[in-house]
Amino acid sequence: MELYLPDFAYQNGAIEKGTAVAVENGRIVETGPAEALRQTYPHAEKKDWAGLVLVPGTVNAHNHCFQSLLRGIATDRPFLEWRDEALYRYSQRFSPEDIYTGALFAFGEMLKCGVTTVCDFFYLHNFGTESDEQILRAAHDLGIRLVLARTMYDWTGAPAGYVETIEDAVENTRALAKKYNGSGMATVLPAPHSLHAASLDMVRAGHALAKELDTCFHIHVAEEPFEVEQVKREYGGLTPLEVLDKAGVLDARTVIVHGVWLQKSEIERLGAAGGKLAYCPSSNMFLADGITDIPAMRKAGVLIGLGSDGACSNNRISVFEEMRMAALLQKANTCDALCLTYKDAFAMGTENGGELLGLPVGKLEAGYFADFVGVRLSDLSMQPVSPSGEQILPNLVYAMQPTAIAHVVVNGRQVVENGALLTVSEQKLVSEIARTMAHLRGEA
Ligand SMILES: [Zn+2]
Repeated sequence: MELYLPDFAYQNGAIEKGTAVAVENGRIVETGPAEALRQTYPHAEKKDWAGLVLVPGTVNAHNHCFQSLLRGIATDRPFLEWRDEALYRYSQRFSPEDIYTGALFAFGEMLKCGVTTVCDFFYLHNFGTESDEQILRAAHDLGIRLVLARTMYDWTGAPAGYVETIEDAVENTRALAKKYNGSGMATVLPAPHSLHAASLDMVRAGHALAKELDTCFHIHVAEEPFEVEQVKREYGGLTPLEVLDKAGVLDARTVIVHGVWLQKSEIERLGAAGGKLAYCPSSNMFLADGITDIPAMRKAGVLIGLGSDGACSNNRISVFEEMRMAALLQKANTCDALCLTYKDAFAMGTENGGELLGLPVGKLEAGYFADFVGVRLSDLSMQPVSPSGEQILPNLVYAMQPTAIAHVVVNGRQVVENGALLTVSEQKLVSEIARTMAHLRGEA
């Protein structure tokens, strides 16, 4: 058993002074005043986190890890040009080892930014499960918690390595889920890509598989106007949410990604069905997609988590960053300073993300996984700190820079110490990225 003794800790929407966290076998056992916990657990190993505030690890609800390797390529382009020039141009060249390096790169950078759980929406299957296994291997090697939203894709206009038959997509996703689900460190679930890249039968098969595996299922919805127009043309004038609802796949298992171009009535329908949203504000800005109506989503009762999306459409990969972006973008869009507060944004990036993925993460509470971050209060970006600490939470959301992130613990195991990865050599990773890029550019 370990007893973490920080100066401050996050508890139920606020920062408390002198709260300690007791951990055993990767789970939080108890939180409470440090003195009381010292007496209850006198033999616990003491973790001196003086000078730090202990907060839940953040949950990245949507990412495409291989895209980290395409960062800085085809920037400042409209969505479809970006897709063709960055994604489609390079996707065919990724070997399993390149995919492993890309995942190590993305997840390693995330850990250093305080992400402890990532949902990777992965579609570069290359005709089997070997590529998926590379993502799982990278997460395991780093010690980050992974949800692999295994994409089901049958639109043949995309690179061949994305595409599977419905039968293969179901069989491969099921096989991985059977192999990995249960430990809590890795979960595999179905993710029909979108209504423009998956047939309605594929979407139905994904939903049925989610039911069978008792997981949620993820799908991109209404990211771009072209998608809405295409869906209306192909489905007799129905909007994306109407299509999903009519097909019987809109319910409490449904996690939609983006939801930028939904009408008010579709948002209400999503909320009434118990559907959830993975919101990616920076990506929506980067790709000039538009602005999701978050106040309407909240009013409709839609649970909202935050995602960075792929690192070539952001191009940062931090959920703290998305908290800031979500709040600022919504304020600018509504001229209402209270439409999304720092407390709301923090909850979206932590506990809401956990609930959206169906995992006990994102809260410092008994029974939850011991996934948390120690933020250095002496970092200038966290100053000033008053004795009661009431500025800490707004500073975490609006001011903090990654330089303040000192320690990261996942499943009770420390994976970042004083800002450096403990599980993987960063120096080696940087040279692996260079080698991989030479391969992707066709130089090696
Ligand atoms: Zn995406």
